[in-house]
Amino acid sequence: MPALRPSPIAPTVDFDKDGVQHGFLRLPYSRDDSAWGSVMIPVCVIRNGKGPTALLTGGNHGDEYEGPLALYDLARTLDPKDVAGTVIIVPAMNYPAFRAGTRTSPIDKGNMNRSFPGRPDGTVTEKIADYFQRDLLPRADIVFDFHSGGKTLDFVPFCAAHTLPDKAQEEKAFAAVEAFSAPFSMRMTEIDAVGMYDTAAEAMGKVFVTTELGGGGTSRAETVRIARRGVVNVLRHAGIVDGAVEKSQTQWLDMPSGGCFAFAEDDGMIETMVDLGETVEEGQVVARVHSTGRTGNAPREIKARLSGLLAARHFPGLVKAGDCAAVIGVLVP
Ligand SMILES: [Zn+2]
Repeated sequence: MPALRPSPIAPTVDFDKDGVQHGFLRLPYSRDDSAWGSVMIPVCVIRNGKGPTALLTGGNHGDEYEGPLALYDLARTLDPKDVAGTVIIVPAMNYPAFRAGTRTSPIDKGNMNRSFPGRPDGTVTEKIADYFQRDLLPRADIVFDFHSGGKTLDFVPFCAAHTLPDKAQEEKAFAAVEAFSAPFSMRMTEIDAVGMYDTAAEAMGKVFVTTELGGGGTSRAETVRIARRGVVNVLRHAGIVDGAVEKSQTQWLDMPSGGCFAFAEDDGMIETMVDLGETVEEGQVVARVHSTGRTGNAPREIKARLSGLLAARHFPGLVKAGDCAAVIGVLVP
């Protein structure tokens, strides 16, 4: 395979310099309204000497807000005196999507979390993914990527890591999840892990931690508080920020199989039969889909395929065949 060309992204910060720097990952983007224009992705580097590096991201999907709220705040307030090592903060990773308030980029429809490893000669989204893949991820010891449900899903607030073939790597990730101290902690399974930032980081042997903190295309006071406290807890746990982890009780959930997911098989109006955080039994109806084209039709039932707790649900009132209607997390005693 021929060597990949260098990334077109030029950072305006020096990742090896001590102190606080607020700058940009500048990506050339020629277009109608700016012939020699750029996408300016905000980045903050806070470094104090040698030590581990944390790479913190929000806005991987552009309509999820707890991560950006916590990370713009952290970038403004974290004092390098309290840091040992380096904290790299990119609060709005897919910046064009974040600016548009949409999950994917309005430029190329790119879903950042399905675009890895990216391409230096690809679309805007692929170029950003490639920069993380080849320039930022290799610098990191711990990688923390904030997510929430966006406009179409809503979650109980949890911090998560994946079950991994390398058990030592998995154990470090779950220890960081525990330190985050969200109300729930998830041993996560993906529907399809191909192209995910998570998968790229884990394949490099990094400690990768993520969240799902709410959703509906907005944030709540409680979920933002959880995000702000949790990210500092993880940095303390990693020995990068001074001070003790503020632990609080967390309920571990497991996603042992694809049976956790329940998908709609019909278009229509969805009626949630169980609220987030409530327990359900295998076979219990978690939602009903009402057809709306004519009266007289019975609603179609969506049933839980295993027992546990309703960890996520479809958010909008209308649903389409194939939409994820519900996710059940199995309670870990
Ligand atoms: Zn997301």
